Amino acid sequence: MDMGLVCSLLAKAHLDIEYLQEMVVLYSFHSSKDDSWSWRGGASGIFSVQDLRRVMHSKIYDEIYTTPCIWEGWIPIKLHCFVWRLLLNRIPVTVNLLARGLISISRSCSFCSLSDEFSDHVFLDCVGTKQVWRTVSLRCGWDLTALWSIEQLLEEASHSSSHSRKRILKAIIYSSIWSIWKQRNAETLSGRAFNREFVLEEIKTNLYGSIKHISPHKEIIWQHWIVSTLHCILA
Ligand SMILES: [Zn+2]
Repeated sequence: MDMGLVCSLLAKAHLDIEYLQEMVVLYSFHSSKDDSWSWRGGASGIFSVQDLRRVMHSKIYDEIYTTPCIWEGWIPIKLHCFVWRLLLNRIPVTVNLLARGLISISRSCSFCSLSDEFSDHVFLDCVGTKQVWRTVSLRCGWDLTALWSIEQLLEEASHSSSHSRKRILKAIIYSSIWSIWKQRNAETLSGRAFNREFVLEEIKTNLYGSIKHISPHKEIIWQHWIVSTLHCILA
């Protein structure tokens, strides 16, 4: 956690304490009523971890809580964590590293040099990345190629026609994002070109493992899976 964020959190904590003290002073107690606990973080008035997470998210990061990062039981935790950080723009792409003064190199994408290295460019618009999404779209029968932001990409799954299809499409998107990032890092360290085929193989293998062993779709067969990812589950 950087010092700027720590200072910001401490300042907010101080303001929260002042606010609480003010509330106690101004509150008029009703002697005719029994004391009771109430939860004001959600419309139902009943405490839930989901509401707490939403409140913490909006208070800490000053951002509106968005639904795309709802955690799915059979998507691996490391993928969830990565996508969550991506939505918060905490992934160490060049533009973010420069903003924090950590490096002093060009802002341009180290793979294509056609744009500054923003998260949206890395995961949606870079040359090798576009090829990955094109092939993934063909395999899953859902067009993921004409999207402009990470949020838009993650929302695509929610537009799907059935709950089962939504969950699988979401797993495909998360796995693709994770594999793109891993491959990009590996290629940066080795100095080689972005290997689209390697990314696609990794997406297929990782997804098969998650779906076969964690999801309810344990009947899937590898030979069918490699031919058509979504159709072999939903057919
Ligand atoms: Zn690029």
